[in-house]
Amino acid sequence: MSIAIISDVHANLEALTAVLRDAEGRGETQVWCAGDTVGYGPDPAAVLDALVQRDAMMVAGNHDLAACGKMGVEEFNPVAAEAALWTRRTLSESECALLASLPLTRTSGDFTMVHGTLRQPEWEYLLTPEQAIAQFELQATPYSIVGHTHLPMVVREDGGRPAMLRLLPDTTIELGGERLILNPGGLGQPRDGDPRAPYLLYDEESATVSFHRVPYDIGGTRRKIRDAGLPEWLGARLERGQ
Ligand code: ZN
Repeated sequence: MSIAIISDVHANLEALTAVLRDAEGRGETQVWCAGDTVGYGPDPAAVLDALVQRDAMMVAGNHDLAACGKMGVEEFNPVAAEAALWTRRTLSESECALLASLPLTRTSGDFTMVHGTLRQPEWEYLLTPEQAIAQFELQATPYSIVGHTHLPMVVREDGGRPAMLRLLPDTTIELGGERLILNPGGLGQPRDGDPRAPYLLYDEESATVSFHRVPYDIGGTRRKIRDAGLPEWLGARLERGQ
């Protein structure tokens, strides 16, 4: 079994479609999504539908909770708030109910998945060794999957002195040794300077996780953002991967 591990799709259908096609070509049979499935992007309903069709295992991110009204937008920056309210107006009642029903954490086998961190699932950005130590303390499985930062990363426990390593395309991580925290990056809104859509592929048989980047029709997404009346900056940042 191979599992595509994705996060922060942010209603970017073109990026999601390209990633799923790439993952299928590598033998993907299942999808796990670490939250922020909607928000910012122009296709929240279609993205949700694509993941539901695949019976994806999902957790809630802050943007998902804002989109369904479970969280206010007071803590959001103005552009994020505007997009969240647009998303809330766009989704149907049943789509909102689906988002509202998502858990904050999910565990499957050796993996626990959460959007931010285990101590603060909706809000905390896991960026420092101190935060990684706190995560490892709460982590009951060998591996955890986080999103939220939009930065692809693997954190090695390394005897209690966590090493934060940025992931480069076609890196393969061998599982079975120390405990790890994995971040697949922001599929629908990369922020590490590479505009291609990032994802991880977990191959159960070989006990490896590999990191991949997939080009997609950024211009198409950008046009949809403009046509939807969403802030133009949200399209521009996709081109830069920032
Ligand atoms: Zn996000």
